[in-house]
Order: sequence, then structure tokens, then C-alpha cells
Amino acid sequence: MAERRVAVVTGANKGIGLEIAHQLARMGVTVYLGARDEARGRAAAEKLRAEGLDARPLSLDVTDERSVAAAAALLERDAGRLDILVNNAGIFVDDGPPSRVSADSLRRTYETNVFGVVRVTQALLPLLRRSDAGRIVNMSSGLGSITQNSDPRSPFAAVKCLAYNSSKSALNAITVQFAHELRDTPIKVNAADPGYVATDMNRHQGVRSVAQGAATPVRLATLPSDGPTGGYFNDAGSVPW
Ligand code: NAP
Repeated sequence: MAERRVAVVTGANKGIGLEIAHQLARMGVTVYLGARDEARGRAAAEKLRAEGLDARPLSLDVTDERSVAAAAALLERDAGRLDILVNNAGIFVDDGPPSRVSADSLRRTYETNVFGVVRVTQALLPLLRRSDAGRIVNMSSGLGSITQNSDPRSPFAAVKCLAYNSSKSALNAITVQFAHELRDTPIKVNAADPGYVATDMNRHQGVRSVAQGAATPVRLATLPSDGPTGGYFNDAGSVPW
């Protein structure tokens, strides 16, 4: 029997991350649910375990160097390799128009949405390199598309949240760079746009379900060996950068 794939999903205690973990676990993947709050992570993993799924809590605050190093050490001991990393943890700081954005809003947003992704990816890359089909999925957003954000006809044009949008544009750039460095390995690195999904992040104003939002990241997390790398996708296909 083939070995079970091993996945880490960051920010998996709720929202789209929890649903990604759920869908991957239902596909027979052993899923570590990253959560910065241990109790919330345990409760989320417990829910999936109650369905007979192999879901495990993983204490992981993406902004905290020591927490990330401890999570990497635990995975090294427990699993010895990693097949799928979904960098899902993200925050949205409501910061008003660009002229009023504080450096603190930018710093806090980037600490999670940008530096957190690089920190976690670098820490877990040695484990991903041991996989014969490593997959990294970065949870971007349609708001990270500079093409859409600068097109006055696009529904995204009116949404000018400087810290959040630019953090996701930076994440897109980071996706391309990691994909390039890893182009001669089996590891594929892609960015996912889940659409506007009803979660705590938008006080459940989103129009899509978490199941719909998880579809693209799960597809990218389980791409076949001839699948793309260095791309930016939603359910409809490629998203313009
Ligand atoms: P959510 O319900 O607010 O969930 C965000 C998750 O990230 C929570 O588990 C949260 O943990 C976690 N998180 C935040 N900071 C963290 C940190 N420092 N370390 C570890 N975990 C942390 O939001 P969501 O809508 O599911 O968002 C998931 C991802 O999708 C985000 O990257 C978001 O930008 C992206 N996205 C969402 C939408 C949408 O319409 N909802 C659209 C495009 C992109 P706590 O519970 O501890 O806060």
C-alpha cells in the first residue's frame, strides 16, 4: 500500500484552512492542522478525528520564529517528511484609504501574510525536499492581482485595502520566486485565489462557501506531476498577475 501523504495547513483551526484540512484528510492525507492557539487547534483536529480522519493539531504561530522551529522539529520527529504545505494563515487589517494607512497596519499584515509564509516555507522546505511530489500552495486573493486592481472595469478595482492587497501581491511575487528556485525539483509552488468566501475575516459577508473556497487550494495541493508551477489560479483557471 502507498504511504499516506503528509500535509501541513497553517491557520487551520477555522475558515477556509479548516475546510482545506478536512478535504485533504478525506482524501486519505495525514493532516497537521496548524493553529497559533493550541486549544483551538486541538478542538479543530478533534472534530476531524471524530469522523475517523487522520488529523493532528500542530502548534504554529507563523509570526513567531521559535514556534515555527518547534513545529518543524515536531514534524521531523513524527513524520520525517512533508508532501503538502498550504500557507493559508492570513489576516486582514481594516486600514482605510492609502493616505491613512499606518506603518503599524502594514507591518502587522506583512508579518503574517508575507514574512510568515517565507518563514514557514523555509523551515519546512528540508522536509518537502524529501517528498517525491512536494506541493506548496500560497493562499493569495483576487485582491493581490495588480492587473485586476488597476482595471477600472474590474469589481476588484473599488477595493483598495493597501496593506492587505499589497501583502497578497507580494505573496504572488514570492510564489514565482520559490517556484523558480525549485523548478528542477518535484516541488510545485502555486498561488490560490479562493474567491470571496464567507468567513470570520469578512464577518461572513463573502458569497462563497468554505467548500467552494477550498476547491482551488486543494486542487493545487494535489496536482499531478505534469501540473503547473509558479502560477496563480482560481476556479476558472489562471488569474492575471
Ligand atoms: P479566517 O476565518 O479569519 O481564518 C484565518 C486563519 O488564519 C485562522 O485560523 C487564524 O487563527 C489564522 N491565523 C492568523 N494569524 C495567524 C498566525 N500568526 N499564525 C497562525 N495562524 C494565524 O479567514 P479565511 O477567510 O479562512 O482566510 C484564510 C486565507 O484565505 C487567508 O490567507 C486569507 O487572506 C485568504 N483569503 C480569504 C478570502 C475570503 O473571502 N475569506 C478571500 C481571499 C483570500 P486564529 O483563529 O487564531 O485567529
